[in-house]
Amino acid sequence: MNNIAEQLGLAYHNLNEKCSALAIVANKPLLLAVSKTKPSSAIASAYLAGQRHFGENYPQELAEKAAALQQYRDIVWHFIGPLQSNKTKLVAEHAHWVHSIDRLKIAQRLAAQRPETMPALKVLLQINISNEASKAGIAATEMLALADEISQLGTLELKGLMAIPAPGQSETAFAAMQTLSIKLQKKYPNATELSMGMSDDWPQALRYGATMIRLGTAIFGARDYDKE
Ligand SMILES: *Cc1c(COP(=O)(O)O)cnc(C)c1O
Repeated sequence: MNNIAEQLGLAYHNLNEKCSALAIVANKPLLLAVSKTKPSSAIASAYLAGQRHFGENYPQELAEKAAALQQYRDIVWHFIGPLQSNKTKLVAEHAHWVHSIDRLKIAQRLAAQRPETMPALKVLLQINISNEASKAGIAATEMLALADEISQLGTLELKGLMAIPAPGQSETAFAAMQTLSIKLQKKYPNATELSMGMSDDWPQALRYGATMIRLGTAIFGARDYDKE
């Protein structure tokens, strides 16, 4: 067994243990393997070990990997990185999910560029839950207004929320996200997804209702940005 398959097995083992401890029986969270900066061969290894959902941060890289791995027809691509308007087309054409919607303009472009032959693009609103000046995401107070606008866009499907807490503030942030998610679901009952928790803080995210956890380092090892 290769290293990625082993790490993946361990990640699922840990997830299952934590779910048991928290009495999460039905609706276990989806584990997203975050493969940014890793080669397609690493994704193929994870795929052959049973993984289907992958997260990517850069539009060009997503498009290249989707093309290189198109023989694996049931891979589900999640775009989780910051998105500029001049790159929306690549994402509209290759992603199944976008976790990082933080403005109407981006949503409108994705909606217009989504190919007719593809199903609706599932989207999450990214919330700047720790109110960091330099970070992506909308303020919590802007959530419902953006949700209302996005719900009008036929080729997008509003599925829920995503957040990346400030370092050291995961617990407070996850609790606040759970409250926001309940608020969103009162108006949009199908927007049930809560994408939160990474390699370092996913066990806490589980305690606050995460439905998708995003693990990079825990599966693929440390990222080497110099080698990109
Ligand atoms: C890189 C990244 C992850 C994975 O982070 P790890 O700490 O390696 O698990 C998760 N979510 C987002 C949005 C990321 O950019």
